[in-house]
Amino acid sequence: MASKDTYEFKAEIQQLLNILVHSLYTNKDIFLRELVSNASDALDKYRHATGHTAQAEEDGPDLEIRIHADKEAKKLFIEDTGVGMTREELVENIGTIAHSGSAAFMKELTEAKEKDENAVADLIGRFGVGFYSVYMVADEVVLTTRSHQGGPALSWTSDGKGAYVIDELADADAANAPERGTHIEIRLNPDLADQFTDPETLKRIIKTHSNFVRYPIYVDDERV
Ligand code: ADP
Ligand code: MG
Repeated sequence: MASKDTYEFKAEIQQLLNILVHSLYTNKDIFLRELVSNASDALDKYRHATGHTAQAEEDGPDLEIRIHADKEAKKLFIEDTGVGMTREELVENIGTIAHSGSAAFMKELTEAKEKDENAVADLIGRFGVGFYSVYMVADEVVLTTRSHQGGPALSWTSDGKGAYVIDELADADAANAPERGTHIEIRLNPDLADQFTDPETLKRIIKTHSNFVRYPIYVDDERV
């Protein structure tokens, strides 16, 4: 298999992305809740896969979520040491709306959209739209991941407009990839970059929306 491949988003994802990007102008904060929730799930899956043994948790990096921003470069980073993903998992999990309730969600979303923006925000809050909500703030996302089961470090890149590229990282780049887990680099929409690279704003959003997460969350090395 070629190491670099381009894949098209499924039609229903295209539709979801369009609605998210074009109908939600307030409440963009929730993208962070969704990414932190995925990081927390990935850490849960790692613990589960290793049988929750103390030894397994001592081998390799700590179970934690780290967030930092680069104001100059207009980038936000969210990193976890969870299960990570293989190429097949990337295609299956990030390229398709597989989880149950998505059809019902799309139906309600279309109806809410006809009402007003608050109805859409409320709906997204209730369902949890997940990963794609990142495109409310991102011009492009580069996700780098390494499965806990081994295999190469992979990058997944997309501007959320129709296709994504998966590439296998060369050794030089793989040195910056996670030892285990997933790093998400968000290239922020320039109009939103000041807001979402501000550490105090990030901490406030985390305290408001991700209070329940049981793994340590750091913003710029400071535990929230
Ligand atoms: P949901 O969390 O409801 O399943 P999402 O759109 O948030 O929906 O995420 C889709 C899937 O992508 C997740 O179920 C998971 O398999 C995968 N995924 C997303 N983020 C991560 C991550 N940080 N680490 C590992 N897998 C992830
Ligand atoms: Mg999720």
